[in-house]
Amino acid sequence: MPTHNHMMNTHNYCSTCGAKLILKEESDSGSSYCPTCEKPIYKDPKVATCTLVTNAENAILLAKRALEPGLGKWALPGGYVNLGEVVETAAKREILEETGILCEITKLLGVFSAENTSPILIVYGAHTTGGTLTPSIETPEVAFFQPNDLPPLSFPRDGDIIRDAFFIS
Ligand SMILES: [Zn+2]
Repeated sequence: MPTHNHMMNTHNYCSTCGAKLILKEESDSGSSYCPTCEKPIYKDPKVATCTLVTNAENAILLAKRALEPGLGKWALPGGYVNLGEVVETAAKREILEETGILCEITKLLGVFSAENTSPILIVYGAHTTGGTLTPSIETPEVAFFQPNDLPPLSFPRDGDIIRDAFFIS
């Protein structure tokens, strides 16, 4: 019996004409076919960013999460890239929305993806240029932490990113 993960159930109707799509089970590209438009409909992966933002003291900007996954623990600020948005702009927007901090992106730290998992995560390094620590509804606490004195993290990957960036083994 085939298994259907949740990502497979989100595009069952054509976004152009509303017709029910024909799933191409034999295809591994995730495409469906619209019989009315007579064309394949592709399911694109979602793209998200998170950013390792450091301040002049080389402390790391983290936000406490008010949502699952990882509720009540701390994470690097980030979120989804909007359609048509430059990825670095999305990263800076999410940082500002979640923490009130302005920053300059300085480098690409990595791109993370996993089988049957959405989204593709693009991770940047950045340093602060201004702003004031300001919590949001989704991030009720925001603060800078020294890399050797981190709070409980929502995602093990964030710890890996921080340790890699600061050469902590
Ligand atoms: Zn259609």
